[in-house]
Amino acid sequence: MEEAFKKKAVPVDVPNVRPNEYFAKYVFTREKMYKYLPIDVYNKLVDVIDNGAPLDRAIADEVANGMRRWASELGVTHYSHWFQPLTDGTAEKHDAFVEHDGKGGIMEEFSGKLLVQQEPDASSFPNGGIRNTFEARGYSAWDPSSPVFVVGDTLCIPTVFIAYTGESLDYKAPLLKSLSAVSRAAVDVCRYFNIDAKKVVAYLGVEQEYFLVDEGLYAARPDLLLTGRTLMGHEASKNQQLEDHYLGAIPERVAAFMKELEMRALEFGIPVKTLHNEVAPNQFELAPIYEECNLAVDHNMLLMSLMKTVARKHGFRVLLHEKPFKGVNGSGKHNNWSLGTDTGVMLMSPGKTAEENLRFITFIVNTLMAVWKYDGLLKASIMSATNAHRLGGHEAPPVIISSFLGAQLTQVLDAFEESESDEILLLKGKKGMKLDIPQIPELFIDNTDRNRTSPFAFTGNRFEFRAVGAEANCASAMIALNSAVASQLVEFKRDVDVLIGEGEQKMSAIVKVIRRYIKECKAIRFDGNGYSEEWKAEAERRGLDCESSCPLIFDNYLKDSVVGMFESVGVMTRAELEARNEVKWEMYTKKIQIEARVLGDLAMNHIIPVVTEYQTRLVDNVIKIRQLFVGEKGDMMTAENVKLVEEISERMKFISERVSALVEARKEANRIDSEREKAVAYHDRIAPMLEEIRYQIDKLELIVDNEMWPLPKYRELLFMR
Ligand code: ADP
Ligand code: MG
Repeated sequence: MEEAFKKKAVPVDVPNVRPNEYFAKYVFTREKMYKYLPIDVYNKLVDVIDNGAPLDRAIADEVANGMRRWASELGVTHYSHWFQPLTDGTAEKHDAFVEHDGKGGIMEEFSGKLLVQQEPDASSFPNGGIRNTFEARGYSAWDPSSPVFVVGDTLCIPTVFIAYTGESLDYKAPLLKSLSAVSRAAVDVCRYFNIDAKKVVAYLGVEQEYFLVDEGLYAARPDLLLTGRTLMGHEASKNQQLEDHYLGAIPERVAAFMKELEMRALEFGIPVKTLHNEVAPNQFELAPIYEECNLAVDHNMLLMSLMKTVARKHGFRVLLHEKPFKGVNGSGKHNNWSLGTDTGVMLMSPGKTAEENLRFITFIVNTLMAVWKYDGLLKASIMSATNAHRLGGHEAPPVIISSFLGAQLTQVLDAFEESESDEILLLKGKKGMKLDIPQIPELFIDNTDRNRTSPFAFTGNRFEFRAVGAEANCASAMIALNSAVASQLVEFKRDVDVLIGEGEQKMSAIVKVIRRYIKECKAIRFDGNGYSEEWKAEAERRGLDCESSCPLIFDNYLKDSVVGMFESVGVMTRAELEARNEVKWEMYTKKIQIEARVLGDLAMNHIIPVVTEYQTRLVDNVIKIRQLFVGEKGDMMTAENVKLVEEISERMKFISERVSALVEARKEANRIDSEREKAVAYHDRIAPMLEEIRYQIDKLELIVDNEMWPLPKYRELLFMR
């Protein structure tokens, strides 16, 4: 093994406690439910969690009481409905367990009513006009499928956040609907294969990438502080060219941070497993073991906030922005997604028998169909002002959705497609007509066949949606994917049933439909280099969605086919989709607007004054030398500095003019009423100006005396140890 790939042992200062002593310490697990709830209440609650049985209000009081008793033992005094508004983070509304009895006394109270439903003051959360339109308040409602947990002195209750009239105002509500849609549709398809499942679970394993920077340096970069990324900064002379960072040695300080993060995550029941360096300097990754999708999303949200807290304790700031540094790899969140039954069958894993393998191919091909039909939607689901910097960059998945299958699976699908007669596939097995696909070797999970450039890659037993942004709520991508697959599975069943109705045998009906699908969705399959220019041209020819403007990509949500799909699986209505798009456009505009303000301020108040001072120094130098050496000699000796003085003037002039133009362009854009048009203006006119200004500043960084430069440079930000 090469030296750079060896992990070096680092001494770390953490208490020597076994993980099983603190795992899920702050979570109201089943074990604790069993301990703190009467047995009949416990049984009913488990039925709610496992089987989606309706929550009996009668047990809510007892559940709340049990939770409060458990939480009180941890010193908890408050409770909070914890929800995921349409921003990047989570929101909480804290209330004390203590209620005033109106007679000057207090009593401890936490009733079922307070557990189940709350009315947070929701007007401050983005809602795209839903509450204006429907003149309704928002309320949060308990999601029993994600366990409550304790943070500090607060009992946090995962909730959905919806308008009084039922429209979703958050990520969780549509996510839960999409999960039950995909479950229903997949259970129906499972029946073809004699899989007796009551429920199909979508699993999600989130690999989370992030950067760490020293807290002191971070504080000296107003752009990092206010926008999460560096708006200027010349590339360091050493970057990731040597590729020595990936899986390289973890610096001691970082190892200590990781160790504590791991421990804190485990306390919250987050099953973290691997921590390692990523490709870029100071970039790292954390990958918990996959869980049921809803829980994995909650855990990822919790993990991101834990990362921020723990980082500060260690003198770091964690950067979750998708592209904090230009010219350096960005951060993503690989969403490993699969489906499995409550009976333990992993539907995306090949099996041992022919029937199992047809089941496997059925789910793979239907997923491909969904990705092919809704490639624009999937792209929209991961798009944001921040992720736009990463997608389409030379090192990140392109702004075109395609799927990598690897050589083996490609071979299998090709053979499936090409075989004209069913006889090739239908061989006699032990129990009469059984399916056999000789091309599929029994052990075919080959997870080494990788393509890092594919946004949606099959990796042996799951698909890996790699284009999701590091900062994003994964729910957005999961809502789109689960819904698209659900609607596709419904269509598949319809297609197969039609053939069966015409007298076709079940298995051969499935084979026929799958064969047709393989042909139809071929355009989405691409195993080549997704970063190449040729692929862009090829994708265009194939009719894939190649739009790269973020505000226009959001339009995909409002296409008739997409609205129809979401409505047919009962996940979102047109009104909800329209409202959510308003929020997306508005957020896009705001992000660019803030960046433009910060850049303008930094350019005029930090950069220009320092550059002017340096230029004056050069001018002084020129004058003095010329005083000393009058005539040609003096001219010659000062020629270089004169050139620099000129160059500086030109660049400063450009910057000042551009910053003024930027202010004007912003004013003009702000007058636009439509959120969509405003976002388009910010994308088309304002965002490119930021790049132009930056270009000049980065050039000046190379000219001005290092001592004078007012901001920490890339080499300091990226290579602290
Ligand atoms: P790699 O670096 O090979 O992508 P990692 O171990 O870093 O692998 O992360 C893979 C992620 O995929 C983990 O979160 C893991 O739990 C998850 N995963 C593995 N199998 C499945 C599956 N069947 N469904 C969903 N996620 C899975
Ligand atoms: Mg991965």
